[in-house]
Amino acid sequence: MKHKITLIPGDGIGYEVSTSARRCIDATGVEIEWENVLAGQDALEQTGELLPQAALDSIKRNKVALKGPITTPIGTGFRSVNVAIRQSLELYACLRPAKSYVGVKSRFKDIDLVIVRENSEDLYSGIEFQEGKPETVSLIAQIHKDTKKKIRVDSGISIKPISKFASERIVRFAFNYALENKRKKVTCVHKANIMKFTDGLFLQVARQVASEFAGKIIFEEAIVDNMSMQLVQKPHNYDVLVLPNLYGDIVSDLCAGLIGGLGIAPGANIGTDLAVFEAVHGSAPKYKGKNKANPTAMILSGVLMLRYLKENKAADRLEEAVKQVIAEGKFVTYDLKPDPLDLAAVGTSQMADAIIEKMK
Ligand code: NAD
Repeated sequence: MKHKITLIPGDGIGYEVSTSARRCIDATGVEIEWENVLAGQDALEQTGELLPQAALDSIKRNKVALKGPITTPIGTGFRSVNVAIRQSLELYACLRPAKSYVGVKSRFKDIDLVIVRENSEDLYSGIEFQEGKPETVSLIAQIHKDTKKKIRVDSGISIKPISKFASERIVRFAFNYALENKRKKVTCVHKANIMKFTDGLFLQVARQVASEFAGKIIFEEAIVDNMSMQLVQKPHNYDVLVLPNLYGDIVSDLCAGLIGGLGIAPGANIGTDLAVFEAVHGSAPKYKGKNKANPTAMILSGVLMLRYLKENKAADRLEEAVKQVIAEGKFVTYDLKPDPLDLAAVGTSQMADAIIEKMK
């Protein structure tokens, strides 16, 4: 079956890594018609808009997109174009596997964690009150009136909404993912001891959902600060982690660090019937146009996309080719060399060529 997929090349290193990923995906033999659309810096220059409606419409039409990283220029009215895409398409689940590959220098071997991050609410809702503005001052006064709690008048305020609905939706996603992917345990990560009405609600809902999976999937709870320490000491004790948005963002970078860095950390943003696949890393502007960035995270995001499309054989072949190229250590980018200054490191496109060659 031919798939029609939206491709957002991205900016900074985005174009280089997404082009490499597209070439590798095409080389699996899966038939894909790519629909190229712009978002980010290039879109701003060509259309005057950072996130044109055409990009969102294309994703809605095709249901699946591969997206390169995008820079959010300061002062454009967007906190983050990436967050805006996830929120406007209701891509509520952010799936970020963190898996060790032989040949990548890192502190640990054999890590196989999956981070499931809630993508739609929490402190990323963008509901903020700037210090000194009349509405901020009146909010502070109202809070004092209602709760007798004092907030300094020269404060900025960010709102942290966590709902029953979104918590249940994400925890259920994590348990279903665990079941479908033969995982054993889901750990709910929170700070419910301090934020009783937000993280506390998240945890309470997680316990309810977990009870439906009793006997099939083990459920565990962990406070986020302790979890951070446990992960750097004993990452093998964990399996699937489910977290509210902010902790999910931070812990997924921590887990990328456990497996050797952002260059090999893929991701997916999944909604009810739409999905956008992208690397965890950003647009690393200092490497733009240098053919230097590691394409692996973007290619592995393509592997996740192929699995989502039920093209499992192609996904296995591509992942195996990536594994072999990394294990051989010859045709890899600078960040995967034991010495990052190694002059024998290859460029982004040459690493993709080596991966394509392995699939022949
Ligand atoms: P970043 O991930 O772009 O880069 C941080 C550092 O990680 C880089 O300087 C580089 O040393 C390394 N790195 C990242 N990707 C790499 C790769 N593929 N190969 C080798 N090394 C790599 O994070 P940042 O500097 O905080 O953000 C830069 C821009 O990217 C910002 O505008 C930010 O908003 C945006 N961003 C976009 C996304 C996204 O599109 N999903 C995600 C995060 C950040």
